[in-house]
Amino acid sequence: MKTTWNALKVLFSIATWIVTFLCWLLFGTWTLATLISDWRAARRTRADGHLRCLAGHIIEPSGVFECSGCGWVFRSDNYGLNCPNPECPKPQSNIVNCTTCGLSVRNPGRIGRP
Ligand SMILES: [Zn+2]
Ligand SMILES: [Zn+2]
Repeated sequence: MKTTWNALKVLFSIATWIVTFLCWLLFGTWTLATLISDWRAARRTRADGHLRCLAGHIIEPSGVFECSGCGWVFRSDNYGLNCPNPECPKPQSNIVNCTTCGLSVRNPGRIGRP
């Protein structure tokens, strides 16, 4: 009787390990897939050296931008990705808005999801 119980315990711990391993495998695959798709999307939006919105406008890196986190309007040479407002709740933006039509593009320097 005791041997059966021990065998069951061993089986159970093996099953737990397998489930844990599968979860990590899924998580790892998902993370890798998002990293690769982000990298490819970033390459696509900058295919010819310019950052473009979906309508095809070239988004200039320097200009006047409005922070999506706090509404602060500022000059920037980096697509307005770093808000200078010291009280900004989101100083690192993950979107760039087209300066021509306003469509949003993902920050091409940002790889992976938070
Ligand atoms: Zn801000
Ligand atoms: Zn545009």
